[in-house]
Amino acid sequence: MKVGLVYDPVYLKHETGQHVENAQRLEAIISHLEQTQLIRQLTLVEPRAASIEELSLVHSERHIAHVQEVAQERGGWLDPDTVMSTDSYEAALYAAGGLIRATEAVMQGEVDSAFALVRPPGHHATTTQAMGFCLFNNIAIAARYALAKYSLKRIAIIDFDVHHGNGTQESFYDDPQVLYISTHESPFYPGTGYIEETGRGEAEGTTVNIPLPAGCGDAEYLLVFEQIIVPVVRRFNPQFILVSAGYDTHWADGLAMMKVSVTGFAQMVRIIKELADELCGGRLVLTLEGGYNLTALAASVKATFDVLLGNNSIEDPLGPSPRRLAVTNIDSLINKIKEIHNLA
Ligand SMILES: [Zn+2]
Repeated sequence: MKVGLVYDPVYLKHETGQHVENAQRLEAIISHLEQTQLIRQLTLVEPRAASIEELSLVHSERHIAHVQEVAQERGGWLDPDTVMSTDSYEAALYAAGGLIRATEAVMQGEVDSAFALVRPPGHHATTTQAMGFCLFNNIAIAARYALAKYSLKRIAIIDFDVHHGNGTQESFYDDPQVLYISTHESPFYPGTGYIEETGRGEAEGTTVNIPLPAGCGDAEYLLVFEQIIVPVVRRFNPQFILVSAGYDTHWADGLAMMKVSVTGFAQMVRIIKELADELCGGRLVLTLEGGYNLTALAASVKATFDVLLGNNSIEDPLGPSPRRLAVTNIDSLINKIKEIHNLA
């Protein structure tokens, strides 16, 4: 298995000060991949800057110009959660471009799969505005790029970040070519992602939201994958799978209230990889979204790479959630979602 790693120190130049989304996140991941020597098993895919034309596949000219202007004015806050520095514009171009390169590398057979370790993250950025630590929607841009460049007809985006990817949903809400599936804590930021949001017009049914109550862990997530995500993806039969990999779903993460373990992430990624192998010749690209506990983040990213590489032993240094809660009963939620999406 040839697994691509997209990374470049340019991503550290997006300076956010005391913000929870800071350069230490990527530094912790890279240093863990080096210490465990896993990095030697990976193929480095060098990112490039996305062009304005490529950003425009998703974003308005006005939004792109605004981010560029704030950078030129030595940075500032784009919304109450989202801050940028002078070099953030460059980092953001390389974040979108990094995911484009990962897509090219997989589609052109340079690597079997790839994981883009980029920042700023992207799934909250809407067509017209930055929000939720995100400047440009990297995964939406890569999906639009793949549709155009490789004349694809069906791409699936799976988003297991603890937050709903409102920007990604919005980008493809009218587009039957892109299936967007999100698991997320609800009610929670950004307040979207209800089960009734299913896509519009011809795209009806190609947005699948799985809003979960706080406290869900590996057992609930695996149930959701088995009962909803696997059948929905199989039915859609994508030619390429993209993943918004957010590790703020981990039990040790301070931003949210879920209870997923490193082992749980590895199991989810294994299911996604098996879907890619079964349906699209293994063509799979992941991108980093959230994840703010540095130890949990680094271990979870390593476990993700281990699964992509086909390594059997998964190290989970943090173990399961120490707060042993009973499994949350989500059967009626699952049944409702199955009904809405006509899953037998
Ligand atoms: Zn998140």
